[in-house]
Amino acid sequence: MRRKIVAGNYKMNLNPAEVAELFDGITDYHFIEENKEMKVFPPFIYLSEALAKLGKSPITVGAQNGYFEAKGAFTGEISMAQLKAFEVESVLVGHSERREIFGEDNAIIKKKVDAALAEGLEVIFCCGEPLEVREEGTQKDFVIKQLEESLFHLSAEQMKNVVIAYEPIWAIGTGKTASSAQADEMHKDIRAAIAGKYSEDVAQSTSILYGGSVKPDNAVELFACENVDGGLVGGACLKAADFIAIANAL
Ligand code: PGA
Repeated sequence: MRRKIVAGNYKMNLNPAEVAELFDGITDYHFIEENKEMKVFPPFIYLSEALAKLGKSPITVGAQNGYFEAKGAFTGEISMAQLKAFEVESVLVGHSERREIFGEDNAIIKKKVDAALAEGLEVIFCCGEPLEVREEGTQKDFVIKQLEESLFHLSAEQMKNVVIAYEPIWAIGTGKTASSAQADEMHKDIRAAIAGKYSEDVAQSTSILYGGSVKPDNAVELFACENVDGGLVGGACLKAADFIAIANAL
């Protein structure tokens, strides 16, 4: 059975008091179903506290980024190896803000995927098209190219440690969500591409999350789609009550 996941991407938000309150607000959350999972991705400086407060709960702690070199003169970076040694379990790779603001292209993202998997970290691989591509109607080709250039060199075995998050850029932080039909269609296309590259078995066992203005009031409809296995949530994960309401929609 495919894993269903609700993941919170804190981005560059929250001061120490706010993050402590948020962790306290979610620490007792647990799903009854075994195939459901909550994950949080706080800023690096709060990972230690996240692990201390949530480490014993079923909630998994991940990082928002990681560098592909293991160590050395890379000022300001944190390596996948360091994350693993720190007992972080998961890492976001290829988020559109990393791509657009920090210039990460498919080749760099591929290296990050490889480094994370080599360390035994789970990869949440983010993909998604900008507005102009959606308006042209070429979003499927755009997203499949992202998968082909950064992910499809992996073995079927390695794919077991990869979760895909489809996040149309025009829906991130804009309050403009993809309709459930738009999300389900892209997720279906991604699953078909995985089936074509690997097998139907790999496609059916890969979790594909939707991200982009997921809120308590649209989560039920989005998560009800056959091919949507949960969400990667930005803004709405910063309030415990909202994040829990979204988790309850899973
Ligand atoms: P949003 O962000 O929920 O605020 O749109 C989602 C994301 O960027 O992961």
